[in-house]
Amino acid sequence: MTTLRPVADHVAAVLAGAAPLPAVMASLTDAEGLVLAQDVTAAWPLPSFDNSSMDGYAVRAAEVAGASETSPVSLPVRGDIAAGQSADQALAAGTVVRIMTGAPVPTGADAVVPVEWTDGGTDTVTISEQPDVGAHIRRAGEDVNTGDLVVEAGTVITARVLAMLAAVGRGSVLVHPRPRVTVISTGDELVDPGVDPGVGQIVDSNSYMLTAAAREAGAVARRIGPVPDDDATLARVLAEAAAECDVILTSGGVSMGAYDTVKAVLTDLGGVEFVKVAMQPGMPQGCGLVDGTRIVTLPGNPVSSYVSFEVFVRPLIRRLLGHAAIDRPRVHAICSRRFTSPEHKTQFARVRLSRRDGLLMAEPEGGQGSHIIGGLSRAHGLAVIPPEVTEVCEGQELVVIDLMAAEGSAT
Ligand code: AMP
Ligand code: MG
Repeated sequence: MTTLRPVADHVAAVLAGAAPLPAVMASLTDAEGLVLAQDVTAAWPLPSFDNSSMDGYAVRAAEVAGASETSPVSLPVRGDIAAGQSADQALAAGTVVRIMTGAPVPTGADAVVPVEWTDGGTDTVTISEQPDVGAHIRRAGEDVNTGDLVVEAGTVITARVLAMLAAVGRGSVLVHPRPRVTVISTGDELVDPGVDPGVGQIVDSNSYMLTAAAREAGAVARRIGPVPDDDATLARVLAEAAAECDVILTSGGVSMGAYDTVKAVLTDLGGVEFVKVAMQPGMPQGCGLVDGTRIVTLPGNPVSSYVSFEVFVRPLIRRLLGHAAIDRPRVHAICSRRFTSPEHKTQFARVRLSRRDGLLMAEPEGGQGSHIIGGLSRAHGLAVIPPEVTEVCEGQELVVIDLMAAEGSAT
């Protein structure tokens, strides 16, 4: 038996030399979900001026000291300051101004009395509770100071991070762009969805699956429909793809059959290594370069294709995107039904996850064959069974790649 390449070694081969794509400027809208490629510092403080946190009255605390229900204090109201207005006039002694949430606090005022503590007067206001000095004033710089590092390079630009970037006035930022991925399915037997398959034909599900998986991983993905098992046609399609993308993914044509066109064409061209990886499903794999563009050749069986994408290609896409965490979260779960696993191979078993008495349970999907799309489509995770394990018993703890982690929790 030829020696099989361990899964980790093929992960390393697919990732070899991969680094985050060169940074580009992107508008805040386009930057969403990408990884920041620069440190961002604050050009101004936040808040950028002292402002009121309540609708109420800007006062000198000493002038309303002792105000209570039984002994209220009345003072004249010298105008209004709304959010967006400037407080150019200092607060005259013995007066107050009506102030709205977010409006600048005038100099001289050292507290804001919420409108709820008053009779709401507009000429004269009667205040029945005393504020502490500084009450209801948000001080300039209490959140961020000028020059502070507010978002570090390498941070994923989530909704909350976008708020920070916008607040310090960044309309665009340097990010690592989305890798452009081209998905090519191969096989004379393939027809597009919507076309009734004739005798011996099957519908091309892989190119849709892989294009969607690449997009879910963060890439911009384009699918090229079924390419026939014809060397010249495939060579032309590969050359065109190589000229305009960062990663080519092929499906099918990499096993030992007579019509394994991907392997035949790329073996002639050179630059791509074809190996057998110690895994089930997904043993036949290839990776390398075609015309200088990265290519990963995935097996044709749909489950093999998907699992290979998860194990090898998703980490590659995330590396190119600049993510520090390139692997999906893994969870521990208790096996709820015995199953077997091939010796000398890492098995990626499709499992459904559920909670029982507070414990996360993993139930293997009925069909584990590499053509069983039903089980794949219902699975929540891939249980990783090491090569030396040949039997997994009920009650045993499993490590499961959580396929739902980026799509909302399964449980
Ligand atoms: P191959 O590696 O090309 O021999 O394909 C292995 C198996 O996967 C065959 O049964 C193919 O019909 C099937 N297959 C190949 N490509 C696709 C595809 N794009 N969609 C669904 N099944 C496929
Ligand atoms: Mg084929």
